[in-house]
Amino acid sequence: MIERGARTRPTTRTPQRSDVRLVSLVVPVYDEQDAIPPFLDRIAQVFATLGPGYRYEVIFVNDGSRDATEFVIRSRMQTDNHVSLVNLSRNFGKEAALSAGLDHAEGDACIPIDVDLQDPPELIPEMLEHWDRGAKVVNARRASRGSDTWIKRSSAAGFYRVFNVLADQSIPANVGDFRLLDRQVVEVLRGMGERVRFNKALFNWVGFETAEVTFERPERRTGNSAWSYWRLWNFALDGIFSSSTTPLRVWTYVGGTLAVLSMLYAFVIFLRTMIVGIDVPGYASTLILILLFGGLNLFAIGILGEYIARIYSEVRERPLYVLRSVHKAGGQG
Ligand code: UDP
Ligand code: MG
Repeated sequence: MIERGARTRPTTRTPQRSDVRLVSLVVPVYDEQDAIPPFLDRIAQVFATLGPGYRYEVIFVNDGSRDATEFVIRSRMQTDNHVSLVNLSRNFGKEAALSAGLDHAEGDACIPIDVDLQDPPELIPEMLEHWDRGAKVVNARRASRGSDTWIKRSSAAGFYRVFNVLADQSIPANVGDFRLLDRQVVEVLRGMGERVRFNKALFNWVGFETAEVTFERPERRTGNSAWSYWRLWNFALDGIFSSSTTPLRVWTYVGGTLAVLSMLYAFVIFLRTMIVGIDVPGYASTLILILLFGGLNLFAIGILGEYIARIYSEVRERPLYVLRSVHKAGGQG
């Protein structure tokens, strides 16, 4: 099914119909009414500079917005035939919304992008250049995280460090969802059945020739980030537990080491009792050991719980998202 380099691309493009390639921008939106018009304007500007070799479509996935997001998108659809809208039945979270968007995108390449212009659309031409030269994935790496708070920066750095120690397949730091994915890669992603989806790691797991562009991440233009710290923490846990079984297996070694140490200690106590007799005081050390092992046991059980909860959500096989309606560019739907 997957043939490397099977498609040949002419270097000088005389735009015949078959040669005009479709680029799908996949945009999850949650309460973003003010961000949509400036976003569409910037995208139109960027593609206007690209010449006739590319067409584009913008697929908004309305992730259960409570404001006028749907209304704003649908009124833009009256005049802008690049825009499609996929409505989810409620808020499913950005990862599920992205999957919904990729499922509805028809492009030869798909680019997940944030609507708040923190992923600068001006990077798209550079990404397309790499794609033309044969890259199947083009990552966009943030050169710095200057626009983030100190807490967000250091927790992100900590996350990537822990993740890359634990996971079988490391992910590049500071590369978000903003990247170009060739159709071939999108098809592999769509075939991956898992419910707990940490897209960053999935994108990377697929492999293929990967290029990279870098950018400065600007501040959010309108509205607020919908990610609370608690949500980010859970997102990080999802990422680690869905990409690594190390936390599950490490307890064999922790338990084994502690068992060996306990036996040595038991031997020491035995010898002492034989030589100096029974020593009644020992309250503190007993208590410390009980607390230590009690804590370790609970912690290890908690880790088991994290995996079991995820296994549970996988075996239920609920759909990743529920569609309310789909409105294709051009009116029907
Ligand atoms: N988003 C979404 N569903 C959610 C939360 C966010 O579709 O439950 C969208 C949001 O509208 C935006 C993108 O995901 O287009 C990134 O969100 P945000 O800017 O809040 O994240 P940050 O830039 O802080 O990572
Ligand atoms: Mg943002």
